[in-house]
Amino acid sequence: MRLILILNAGSSSVKCALMTIDDQGEPHDLARGSIDGIGQSAEFSMRFTDGQPAIKEVMATGSTPSHKDALGLILKTVDRLYGLSSLVGAGHRIVHGGPHFVKPIRLDRANIEELRKLTPLAPLHQPHNLAAVDSLFELLPNLPQIGCFDTAFHATMPVIARNFALPKALTEKGIRRYGFHGISYNYISKAFAARDPERAKGRVIVAHLGNGASLCGMINGQSVVNTMGFSALDGLMMGTRAGTLDPAVIFYLMREEKMSAEAVEKMLYSQSGLLGVSGLSNDMRTLRKEAPNNPDAQLALAMFTYRVIREIGSVAAALNGVDALIFTAGIGENDSALRADVINGLNYLGFTLDHDANNRRDILISPSTNPAAFVIPTNEEALIAKATSTLLP
Ligand code: ADP
Repeated sequence: MRLILILNAGSSSVKCALMTIDDQGEPHDLARGSIDGIGQSAEFSMRFTDGQPAIKEVMATGSTPSHKDALGLILKTVDRLYGLSSLVGAGHRIVHGGPHFVKPIRLDRANIEELRKLTPLAPLHQPHNLAAVDSLFELLPNLPQIGCFDTAFHATMPVIARNFALPKALTEKGIRRYGFHGISYNYISKAFAARDPERAKGRVIVAHLGNGASLCGMINGQSVVNTMGFSALDGLMMGTRAGTLDPAVIFYLMREEKMSAEAVEKMLYSQSGLLGVSGLSNDMRTLRKEAPNNPDAQLALAMFTYRVIREIGSVAAALNGVDALIFTAGIGENDSALRADVINGLNYLGFTLDHDANNRRDILISPSTNPAAFVIPTNEEALIAKATSTLLP
């Protein structure tokens, strides 16, 4: 058995997947798991597709568990169930590839240091992504590790979509739009081309609506516009992020409210969005449940929906029209009410909803006219596994 470990390491959690690679190099799901509460009291859970009993346990390290402890536990589990020798590589989700890393790469000492220099561009994600790479090199120095970048898919964005209207010298220093969720968009682009090759050659908008949320406009399967920008703060309203904001609000908060840059950053990343507006939760399911009796939850839902509709208009304008809209990620795949509200808000573009198909969560949720709307589950792990298997020695 040839196993690939997929890792998505955040500040307090590590999500992992184990995939087998068949003779054609195609990945197949074997297990999905996560370790939550790193730095506190971490809980490990893993579910398997091959009949192994699910794991759910509190990590006992004697001290606060680190990323290295978390990876150690994942490797111990792989060893116990399948033997470590079956592990042929690891693939990492790395949020920022900067201007130069626009394809998956085999990670080594030199390029890890280059990636570390990008930390100021993604301070809340990049160091944790790289902590998992460092830890795995310590634990298994000979295991090939591959990095896949969330920014890479957007390398095809034209310069007018990429640049801010800032002084040229700043643009040349890399102050520009990069775009994110690229691993998901790359997966969806390929999955849609396999399902509907003709439409995939046209103008496609993908709405990745999860805790983080963004839109990508594609032509012929390539990214030409993305609602996220220099950071993952821009664009749509999200679970805990505000999305597009007049930058003057930040100067005001710093000058008049005496907030530090760190406090503003924390507020914009983790205390705004659905959570900030509702004062209740960043979780769409909770807000749907509470909305009938909670005006703040209602407002949060209405604003989220409005922002999606409004930004789709902007992306459609950039694409000069739209042939397909694809919903994906936690909210996009599961919240039929949100999809219905969005499509009803896009009647002016020619979209209509097939209510029954939407409620059944079919792939095609509108009449198959032009434009048409789809739901396609994303699978970032599968894309990383495929890229990893391609780059293995
Ligand atoms: P992440 O960006 O962390 O990967 P996900 O793609 O898992 O996030 O999306 C998480 C979001 O999806 C949460 O807001 C959650 O409430 C929402 N979600 C998951 N299932 C449902 C559902 N059945 N109905 C509505 N929202 C859902």
